[in-house]
Amino acid sequence: MITLKDNFFRVIDYLRLSVTDRCNLRCIYCMPAEGIQPFGHSDILSYEEIVRIVRVAAELGVRKVRITGGEPLTRKNLPFLISEIRKISGIEDLSMTTNGILLERHAQELADAGLNRVNISLDSFNPERYREITRGGDLDAVLRGLEAARKAGLAPIKINMVPVRGINEDEIEAFAKMTLDSDCHVRFIEFMPSGTAESWGPEKYITTGEMQEIIGKIAPLEPVRVRKNGPSKYFRLQGARGVIGFISALSHHFCRECNRLRLTPEGKLRPCLFSETEIDLRSPIRTGASDDEIARLLRLSIAVKPEGHTINSTSAAGKASPCSGQAAPEQKRPMSRIGG
Ligand code: SAM
Ligand code: SF4
Repeated sequence: MITLKDNFFRVIDYLRLSVTDRCNLRCIYCMPAEGIQPFGHSDILSYEEIVRIVRVAAELGVRKVRITGGEPLTRKNLPFLISEIRKISGIEDLSMTTNGILLERHAQELADAGLNRVNISLDSFNPERYREITRGGDLDAVLRGLEAARKAGLAPIKINMVPVRGINEDEIEAFAKMTLDSDCHVRFIEFMPSGTAESWGPEKYITTGEMQEIIGKIAPLEPVRVRKNGPSKYFRLQGARGVIGFISALSHHFCRECNRLRLTPEGKLRPCLFSETEIDLRSPIRTGASDDEIARLLRLSIAVKPEGHTINSTSAAGKASPCSGQAAPEQKRPMSRIGG
């Protein structure tokens, strides 16, 4: 089997596709309140262009694809894209990250089209608080979406929670306890500086260590080996059905396990979430590039994949780091345009 390795011997087999930068929410840690001016329809890659890129990537060794955004379910006819990617030889795992608002309506047709699993982003079980964090979201719609995903067999369902100090850290325990009787995965993602840098600050950031301390009071956390889990580290509360994951982008540089490439909605390959390096695929594709040329650009983006990022837990985009004494580079692209 063909494998794709970068200069640091990491196997790159995972492609995250951001299919739109539009979103029906405005989460405080991701987007400014007024939203962002979305790309025009002709700016973003068509489904045919995306499928072509995935086919060439699969020939090079990509095995896992995740659809993300913006909110992927705001893009029309997403099941068509899913079914086309499903047909590509070599793609073993096809998943989606969604805020879940539109999932109730679409879960079954996504499953029928060949989607394997969903990750649902959910940061509070309190309807008022959920509305504040997402600037208008309806918690009930997400919970109905979660149930519909379960019924459609989009399992294991993974819940992504971003704990932010002063906002929802008092719910870390309740989220962890969900795994006691349910086989879902709950993943705690460290709050990262994004293009909306004003919302990040060391005072709002909660380390994985701190989360583990809170959760460890429920029951001992036992490490779990999950196959090909990339940068997430998994544990189980003793006796629990589900597992708990931690994505520690800042406190434990997860770069050594990084197995991914990202494709932005307008066709830029982004080798690292925290680096501004991007390689344009849209122009070559729209001016007649061959599959070999697309493959060359995919290999190039892997060749320039950095060994690690330089942002740490005491620095944020554009804010001085006490460790390095330098300002960390400002991330210009909002998370909703990268796909998280
Ligand atoms: N709209 C979809 C959703 O919210 O699931 C998909 C796109 S969203 C950008 C993907 C993931 O990125 C979500 O789980 C979200 O919580 C996470 N995310 C966004 N901004 C973040 C930040 N500043 N720090 C940590 N995670 C973030
Ligand atoms: Fe939208 Fe997802 Fe960003 Fe929230 S995290 S604003 S749902 S893209």
